[in-house]
Order: sequence, then structure tokens, then C-alpha cells
Amino acid sequence: HRIHAPLTDELTRVWNDLLASNRFIQGPEVKAFEEEFATYCQSSFAIGVSSGTDALLVALMALGVGPGDEIITTPFTFFATAGVIERLGATPVFADIEPESFNLDPDDVAKKITSKTRAIVAVHLFGQMANMDRLKELVKGKEIHLIEDAAQSVGAENDRGQRAGSLGTVGCFSFFPAKNLGCFGDGGAVTTQDEDLAHRISALRVHGAVKKY
Ligand SMILES: *Cc1c(COP(=O)(O)O)cnc(C)c1O
Repeated sequence: HRIHAPLTDELTRVWNDLLASNRFIQGPEVKAFEEEFATYCQSSFAIGVSSGTDALLVALMALGVGPGDEIITTPFTFFATAGVIERLGATPVFADIEPESFNLDPDDVAKKITSKTRAIVAVHLFGQMANMDRLKELVKGKEIHLIEDAAQSVGAENDRGQRAGSLGTVGCFSFFPAKNLGCFGDGGAVTTQDEDLAHRISALRVHGAVKKY
């Protein structure tokens, strides 16, 4: 309530405009938000989806993750991070966290990489970025994608001012009301610097369609 009270006038105006437009899904407001959000996250593209869980799911689907694949991630996260891996028939492989930051420990990740590893999902927590430099080194020259679960870290930066969601193959965000950037209901977004991947994710969020119906 304390967050929303000072914004009541602005939000009421926006809501009234939206109600008059009747464009609730994939309308011009979503497009405008995607552009602004991409810029804020220092990413070339942002694709709005229905939740942080769907952001992770659609990102893994776009990367072709499926049965037989191993995805390394942290157990110190919300359920969804590992849940989506299991849902696609892939296997979550847990690596330990660093005691100071609670983020994924690159040394332990290194020990968990096998020939079946398809991706690493780092989770940035408490406004701190996971050690993306070290994780990038680990996947260099390998066909392993680096995914940022940035559900709790909109606007988090590393020591060079690089923002969450701009460094991995994809960044996955949640706008659940209790998150750093909450919306009215469920919402999420995927960020990427890769145009082909952005197109694939945009299609996957609407049942694979590249144009309406
Ligand atoms: C909240 C959260 C999610 C899932 O987001 P929803 O919008 O609730 O589906 C995924 N990962 C982390 C780290 C989260 O905190």
C-alpha cells in the first residue's frame, strides 16, 4: 500500500486509458514497456511474458532444452528455477552457493559440467549479481548457454555497471507483486542480445505463431 499510494493518481489515469483502449494483451502499452525495459536492462530485446516462471520456461524452450539435457543451477532459489527444467524433461543438477553472496559458486559449477550440460542457470539474489565473468569463462568454447534468473534483481549491476539480464544468452524477469518491480497480477520478461532468439521467444509466447493466426 505504501508503494502504490503516492502513485494512485498516475496509476488511475493509466488504468482509465487502458480500460478505454480495451487492449489488455500484447497491446501498445506492452510494446512500449518492452522497449523501455530492454534499454533499462542494457539489452537489445525484451519480450513480455505472463510470469517469471514462463520467462524461464520459454527461454529454455527457445534454446531447445529437452530430455537427456543437464542444466546446472542453484538449489537456493524459488521453486520455479528447477521446476521448469524438470517440466521440459531435462535434469536439474545442483551446484553449491557462495557463503558470502548466496549466489552460484563457479568452482562448484565447474565440477558439475558433463558432456550432457546444455545450460547453466545463475540466480542473482538480494541485488547482487552472480559471478558472470567466471561462469562465462567456464562455458567458453562449449555449447553451454548461460541463463540469468533475474526475477529478484531488476537493475542489479556488477562492479562495471553491467546490469542483470544483459550478460547471459537470456535474462529472465518476474513482475510478481512482491518482486523488486511488481505489477498488478502476474507478469515477466525475457531479455536477450540475440535477434534470432528474440524472434523465437516472441513466437513461443503465442503458441509458435509469427503472425496472428
Ligand atoms: C519469483 C521467482 C521466479 C518465478 O517468478 P513468477 O513470476 O512467480 O512465476 C523465478 N525465479 C526466482 C529466483 C524468483 O524469485
